[in-house]
Amino acid sequence: MLRKKSLSRAARALAMACIAASAATADFSGAAALEYTRKAVAFGPRPPGSEANRKLQGYIEAQLKPLHCQISFDAFTAQTPAGAILMRNIIAKFPGSSGRAIAITGHFDTKPMPGSVFVGANDGGSSTGFLLELAQVVKTTSHADDIYLVFFDGEEAFGEWSDTNGTFGSRHLAGKWAEEGVLARIKALINIDMIGDKDLGILQETMSSAPLRRQVWQTATDLGYGKYFLNLAQATEDDHLPFLKKGVNALDLIDFDYGPNNEYWHTEKDTMDKLSAHSFEVVGNVLVAVLRKL
Ligand SMILES: [Zn+2]
Repeated sequence: MLRKKSLSRAARALAMACIAASAATADFSGAAALEYTRKAVAFGPRPPGSEANRKLQGYIEAQLKPLHCQISFDAFTAQTPAGAILMRNIIAKFPGSSGRAIAITGHFDTKPMPGSVFVGANDGGSSTGFLLELAQVVKTTSHADDIYLVFFDGEEAFGEWSDTNGTFGSRHLAGKWAEEGVLARIKALINIDMIGDKDLGILQETMSSAPLRRQVWQTATDLGYGKYFLNLAQATEDDHLPFLKKGVNALDLIDFDYGPNNEYWHTEKDTMDKLSAHSFEVVGNVLVAVLRKL
């Protein structure tokens, strides 16, 4: 009896310690991000203009609505090698008071791959799930700057990637935000892509802002996550580029080594079993810590 009583007291103390720890760190849940990703991927292949893409947009919107952020849409018709296609970026703004802004971005579309069932768990799925969980964290965190979470449509190319085939959504929003004066208010823009791989290794994208990259790498090291942020420099074109070209302090965080010889990338092997909650949590904890410092 005595023994049982002392055990339950110990268990209670442990539970309270866990509650205190989670309250102090405003946790990003890797498990929750993975579940959002699973829901997104369950819609199947989600290329721009498809029914599944539209359904996913509805799902994203439904998750954001209860957070009372300002949701807006950037809809446009893209001229693609497959013809004119209606695309739509989704923007969630969490207003601050400083007049400045920070943007965290990622894409929700999957690469159009006629004849194959490409569900893009990591490529398109992970960025969607990551941003949905980040929205939950941002909602409960005080911040001086406006925080924009942007879900891009049309990151992927129709066939072969080029300057005009791919990054349709980010190119459109960069132009729109330049006209509206939003770009001039942005202190930092961080784009995330393919960050759910169990074997996580974020490369140092060399066109990105070096000071911003150093700040992210230092933060990762401080949190004990240094091994996931590689000492590997590689130029990678992604949704940060249209903003970089317009002078924005921008960084791309991407793990571009997905499976043996990158063989899961843009193939039917890009499925949920290749992802881990821990990888989401590593990137989430680093980004939340960086957001506090910017
Ligand atoms: Zn891709």
